[in-house]
Amino acid sequence: MKKILGHLNPRELWHYFEEICQIPRPSKKEGKILKYLTEFAKEKGLDYRSDQIGNLLISKPATKGNEKKKIVVLQSHVDMVCEKNSDVEHDFDKDPILPRIDGEWVKGTGTTLGADDGIGMALQLALLAGNDLEHGSLECLFTVDEETGLTGAFGLEKDFLKGKILLNLDSEDDGELFIGCAGGIDTTADFQYERVNNETDHVAYKISVSGLKGGHSGDDINKGRGNANKILTRILWNVERMFEMRLAQMDGGNLKNAIAREAFAIVTVPKKFQKDLEIKVKEFAKNIGSEQKTNEPDLKISIHETAMPECLIDFITQNKMLNALYACPHGVIGMSPDIPNLVETSTNLASVKMSTKDIIVATSQRSSVDTLKRDIADMVKSVFQLAGARVKHGDGYPGWSPNMKSEVLYITRTSYKELFGEDPKVLAIHAGLECGLFGEKYPGMDMISYGPTIKGAHSPDERLHIPTVEKFWKLTVEILKNIPEE
Ligand SMILES: [Zn+2]
Repeated sequence: MKKILGHLNPRELWHYFEEICQIPRPSKKEGKILKYLTEFAKEKGLDYRSDQIGNLLISKPATKGNEKKKIVVLQSHVDMVCEKNSDVEHDFDKDPILPRIDGEWVKGTGTTLGADDGIGMALQLALLAGNDLEHGSLECLFTVDEETGLTGAFGLEKDFLKGKILLNLDSEDDGELFIGCAGGIDTTADFQYERVNNETDHVAYKISVSGLKGGHSGDDINKGRGNANKILTRILWNVERMFEMRLAQMDGGNLKNAIAREAFAIVTVPKKFQKDLEIKVKEFAKNIGSEQKTNEPDLKISIHETAMPECLIDFITQNKMLNALYACPHGVIGMSPDIPNLVETSTNLASVKMSTKDIIVATSQRSSVDTLKRDIADMVKSVFQLAGARVKHGDGYPGWSPNMKSEVLYITRTSYKELFGEDPKVLAIHAGLECGLFGEKYPGMDMISYGPTIKGAHSPDERLHIPTVEKFWKLTVEILKNIPEE
């Protein structure tokens, strides 16, 4: 193997990162990397064990004089997102990632680099291998399958860890410390409807909403983007009243964790209202377009005459469903009182899908406070129950509620300031992290998440900022030095 990164500092950490790059590790296919890690533990004479789901724990005793320090868990995930440019030949099941240096950055060669979270693993290995460090007992936790559903963290066993402090090494901006994330839950409403015959003397139209930005229902929920389901419902709810509109079909959105970008409906109206309907929908298109001109410049609302549908949704269900969709909240529900600009609670009206018997409305809720997640999920449930739908919640996953008084936050903050002369930002994210699940299984676990700067994660543009890797290492060594005794 030709070493590309061997001259970078800290040597040991980059050495392991380059080794990790050689080992294929797509999510759910982590066998090879786990084998590498257990070989490493054997070779270094370190204790290791796996749990049922495949997570691996390698432990290292305290260095001399530090035996009384509290145990620290350092955690990364072993899987990586496998994305490549279409013109690149690469088999992620077999081929090594080829790192290369471009100025201050390390990149892959037309593929994801896997610094998310290979750099966290490399840091753990460098710590486990290091013999001139000052630290208490360490537990290095390597979780599987973070990227496709947090299943490693979900399956983590309750008596696997001894430490009560956890450093999650999976964040992507030097100078930012994360101390919270959102939990999530799904709420699904099921409207059963009767298929009824078309009205006589009606004409049919297709009304469509498209051109919206969409985005992630957590990270992007506070950006004021349009929701195609909400926009379409607003129009349908109004024209139902005005023009005796009947609904034959409605379809909008797709993924539960995405904001709906497109929606359409097939409707009919009496011939006498034909022109009025067209004028009204165009008026809505103009008004909503103007409301959204800054956030959604490409929004398109269109109406076209179309073939008569085979049948209609019965009027009672149509009316109740449109009322419920119109009343159903969407977007930011509350902001964090502790962390500036953090969305605490939100809900996403994700999709409306029809079969021959049912109309299924899928929604999802998030909050960093579990009781508020439950509150917004029940609020959405009550709207649909009022409209006569059958409503179910999914199992959901827990959030990680920010604790500004956390000891490890204090230690990390002061260590950062001491080393680099500036205050790090303290943040939380409005999306899921493994820490939410660790906190649920290990109540009282004091956690923080940080990492070097990675840009373009999950895309072939992924790149790792070299100077921040050394800071990442120095910060971790300093935190471990400053951990107090039990
Ligand atoms: Zn990651």
